[in-house]
Amino acid sequence: GTDLSPNTLMNSQDNTVSTNAPPVIEIRGLHKAYGPLEVLKGVSLTAPRGHVISLIGSSGSGKSTLLRCCNLLEDSQQGDILFDGEAVRWRGQGLDRHPADRAQVTRFRTNLSMVFQQFNLWSHMTILQNVTECPVTVLGENRAEVEARGRMLLDKVGIGDKCDAWPAQLSGGQQQRAAIARALCMNPKALLFDEPTSALDPELQQEVVKVIKDLASEHRTMIIVTHDMRLAADVSDHVVFLHQGVICEEGPPDQLFGAPQTDRLRQFLSATM
Ligand code: ADP
Ligand code: MG
Repeated sequence: GTDLSPNTLMNSQDNTVSTNAPPVIEIRGLHKAYGPLEVLKGVSLTAPRGHVISLIGSSGSGKSTLLRCCNLLEDSQQGDILFDGEAVRWRGQGLDRHPADRAQVTRFRTNLSMVFQQFNLWSHMTILQNVTECPVTVLGENRAEVEARGRMLLDKVGIGDKCDAWPAQLSGGQQQRAAIARALCMNPKALLFDEPTSALDPELQQEVVKVIKDLASEHRTMIIVTHDMRLAADVSDHVVFLHQGVICEEGPPDQLFGAPQTDRLRQFLSATM
């Protein structure tokens, strides 16, 4: 149904400043429960083309669940999810609701690439094989072309010399940059990051932050869950503060970090920064 909550209205205003095209990702009034546990209680989120959205909030507030719903890795009980203006078709209602159309799910999912906190590289494949596997086997692209693109992307993230190495031979920062190259090699319409720097030592975080900043300056559409408030402040067009499954506050980074409006956000920021 149509959600006229303040969040939705705020998001639709943002769209007008960027482009008339529909947003790459739009979530309206999403509800998600695990059994009796309500994790998302009517969340609306818009990622216009070329925008970077950061998602912040305490552990357990529902950030990862929201990203997984975005990627259709989770069913949800209520609300709409649209990609480029096309709505996910659901079958059933409430707890029995699932995406109805497998072809649509596959198409939407291949438009999004996810980068995880723990890198999740395949340990039995070289770095180049990690990057080229999905474009070849899922998208059916020509292997030689994908390998050329993969080498270029590994170069771009600064590990062009690691093509033939195994994941275990790389530092955490290098592994995460390989995971980002792997995500990019799918030519996704949007990138989803779930705490991409949280597993890294501070000095290794910066090499991953630099890659994310480069992607932001290329106007890649991204949703980034992060505990790194400096990263969120530096790269975001829009910051969303999630608290116990609802959006408590959202806006441009200057406003959220410079002039938080709610006690909850002020408390969160004073505990994290
Ligand atoms: P965050 O990423 O903000 O830390 P999560 O989205 O991981 O939060 O979790 C939100 C809430 O949902 C937590 O209470 C968590 O325990 C619960 N949760 C997450 N995944 C599951 C699951 N698969 N089954 C049951 N509960 C879950
Ligand atoms: Mg999480």
